[in-house]
Amino acid sequence: ATPTALMVGTGRGAQLGILIKGPQVLESTRTVNTIVLDKTGTVTTGRMGVTAIRAADGVSEDDLRQVAASLEHASEHPIARAIATLADPVSVEDFTNHAGFGVSGTVGGRAALVGRPAWLAEQGISVPPMTSADGTTVGVAWDGAFRGSISVADSVKPTSAAAVRQLRNLGLEPILLTGDNRAVAETVGAEVGIQRVIADVTPADKLRVVQELQSEGRVVAMVGDGVNDAAALAASDLGIAMGTGTDVAIQASDLTLVKGDLATAVDAVRLSRATLRTIK
Ligand code: ADP
Ligand code: MG
Repeated sequence: ATPTALMVGTGRGAQLGILIKGPQVLESTRTVNTIVLDKTGTVTTGRMGVTAIRAADGVSEDDLRQVAASLEHASEHPIARAIATLADPVSVEDFTNHAGFGVSGTVGGRAALVGRPAWLAEQGISVPPMTSADGTTVGVAWDGAFRGSISVADSVKPTSAAAVRQLRNLGLEPILLTGDNRAVAETVGAEVGIQRVIADVTPADKLRVVQELQSEGRVVAMVGDGVNDAAALAASDLGIAMGTGTDVAIQASDLTLVKGDLATAVDAVRLSRATLRTIK
């Protein structure tokens, strides 16, 4: 590949809303045959709304809202943005973001957690069985006890299903990869036409899935937007970040889709192939 053709391709990418880290990136796109897609914020809008609030027995819903909203106020996760609207935040001490699991901190003297039910259970909280009928359900706990749950949901981006179809037409097998629960993941997969759905994964699992696909001899592109996607994006043969996502995801990636639209991922694959064709 001549440097000039690759430079031209890079410039064309910018016009299409694709920021390319370096001219050599277009070359690695050529042989990609698998595309791993993060769910929340990548295939779906990431603009979540609260669909249910359930306080445990003896817990006031106002307290549940206050503690959860205050903790999530400091997180940029899509789930956090929805929960943060539930109350005016009070100050939080010792805030910690546990990427892919939840958040913790002390709110009004209460040591609190909001996050994945399985993660709360690992912290020694006795978590009751939870429904996934309302979407993504996170647990709220403080002072060592389960205090309730909050469910959130978003919707598939209008362009996602067509983009998945086109990626398949370009010879890429799409795989949906998410930390969310299986019921939500399969619903989204069905809506956009992805049969292979890997759910309930941790950020470390996301990385492992990419590495396993590579060890099967696949050349893997991954599209993601979150802190939880960064390690998998960095390990993939072609890391693609949503421009609407976190800085960590953008830094870990080779390409950034400025508008955060999967349709532009299709453009990126086409551009790379066209650029390399003119060079040969
Ligand atoms: P995805 O792969 O869909 O982008 P993540 O890996 O970011 O999802 O999160 C996986 C799960 O961890 C979420 O479905 C949720 O249960 C929990 N979680 C992550 N971040 C938060 C947060 N800030 N607040 C509550 N729960 C969270
Ligand atoms: Mg995401």
